[in-house]
Amino acid sequence: MRLRVLGCHGGESPTHRTTCFLVDDTLALDAGALTRGLTTAEQARVDNVVLSHAHLDHIRDLPLAADNVIGVRKKPLDIYAADFTATALEKHLFNDVIWPNFTKIPNPSDPEGRPTLRIKRFKPGEPFQIGDLTIRTVPVNHPVDCQAIFVHSKRGTLVYSGDTGPTDKLWEELNKVEDLRAFIFEVSFPNHMTKLAEVSGHLTPAMMAAELKKFRPQSDAAVLLYHLKPTFFDVLKAQVADLADPRLTVLRPMDEFDF
Ligand SMILES: [Zn+2]
Ligand SMILES: [Zn+2]
Repeated sequence: MRLRVLGCHGGESPTHRTTCFLVDDTLALDAGALTRGLTTAEQARVDNVVLSHAHLDHIRDLPLAADNVIGVRKKPLDIYAADFTATALEKHLFNDVIWPNFTKIPNPSDPEGRPTLRIKRFKPGEPFQIGDLTIRTVPVNHPVDCQAIFVHSKRGTLVYSGDTGPTDKLWEELNKVEDLRAFIFEVSFPNHMTKLAEVSGHLTPAMMAAELKKFRPQSDAAVLLYHLKPTFFDVLKAQVADLADPRLTVLRPMDEFDF
């Protein structure tokens, strides 16, 4: 499994990008940097996007990606989402007000005349197949419905937590995975902003360290940290370093991993 980090921050600046991870060049986990992180040719090769939740920093490049690939792709770009997120996209984004409804407009380059986008609903907990990858999600703790995404392949499993505050269900499921290769985990606000982290369903480095006490992996797995807020990036990096946990790596845009 090849992982490319297109965006890994909880906000944007010229050196920070919102969340988007690319698996094997064709599957995106969230879409916060789908157009910013890829050339138009690379964007056209992305066949599937699995969304953790509906917040803007995780879906923001979908409208522009649809615009870039219409007239180029020969089949629809499939967007997989739980009910709440799927409905949010339909009602509030591709609604012919904020952006044209790319799930209805026929794509002239599709020989079957299908639309550019298809929104596909999955049921949390029920596995589904994307090519030779098996995907499964677990609900986490965030103000809107948010799903941790488990990507199982023959070479091992990658898990992306999505945005979350303290949770138990995720650890229960994570600790059952026998071939975990990497766990992408959130940390958002510095330790002096615990109250804000609590009400917004996020973690500080101290809260993250407390969560990691529930982590009993069955294999050696890297813990890759994302969603650091750009304004507090340096403080957060220092507070993560103070934890002196050798499993932790703070992700950077355009990092690449092979599992
Ligand atoms: Zn976010
Ligand atoms: Zn969020």
